[in-house]
Amino acid sequence: MTDSLESTICLFDVDGTLTPSRNPATQEMLQYLNELKGKVALAWVSGSDLVKISDQLDGRENTISLFKYCFAENGLVAFKEGNLISKQDIVKHMGDKNVKEFVNFCLKYIADIDIPKKRGTFIELRTGLINLCPVGRNCSQEEREEFSDFDMEHKVREKFVEVLKKEFAHMKLRFVIGGQISIDVFPEGWDKTFCLNILEKEGVKTIHFFGDRAYPGGNDYEAYMDDRTIGHKVKNPDETIQLLKQLFP
Ligand SMILES: [Mg+2]
Repeated sequence: MTDSLESTICLFDVDGTLTPSRNPATQEMLQYLNELKGKVALAWVSGSDLVKISDQLDGRENTISLFKYCFAENGLVAFKEGNLISKQDIVKHMGDKNVKEFVNFCLKYIADIDIPKKRGTFIELRTGLINLCPVGRNCSQEEREEFSDFDMEHKVREKFVEVLKKEFAHMKLRFVIGGQISIDVFPEGWDKTFCLNILEKEGVKTIHFFGDRAYPGGNDYEAYMDDRTIGHKVKNPDETIQLLKQLFP
């Protein structure tokens, strides 16, 4: 590795950037990354967990040997050379008092929403987010679609988010209406830029970031636009390889 590349890293989104969406990486990609890691350090960042991503990148051992850093769940769970170096979750971050206040409010609000059907699991606490679901996550596929149509007409989730934004402005949360039935709630900055804080602390000076959803609203947009990265927008894994060959001949 030359001096100038010593503190440089290539940071990749996985789905659509290194692999076809939700599919394994091609042999060509794996071979190329293996060559590239001799020139520059590699890292990936994904909303998924290490197990899922390792499956896509030819197993855990291979993932660890190819990538110096693995940032699962956007970096809330961070690995360096295969070792866990930091772990953060939303309860730790918000504190139990705030979580309780927020959950209590949402339970009352959901109880009062007038929608045709309600099932079970209206609130789900995950590592990095709180998932709110007015119809309940236990709904059937048919009920899911029914809610989705109802929501398009009556803006149930949009109205819910407006209320939450006002009520919890002081907690600095972000609300994303995702998929057909739910709202994801997470602290500001808990997108893919979360892992940039870790790389900064690690003394990495130059970060090339590659993502396929680097447009407003896409989950690579924040990291792509961040001042700490050199952002690269790609359409698919083939384009990622082409671009890398130009950058690191
Ligand atoms: Mg992607």
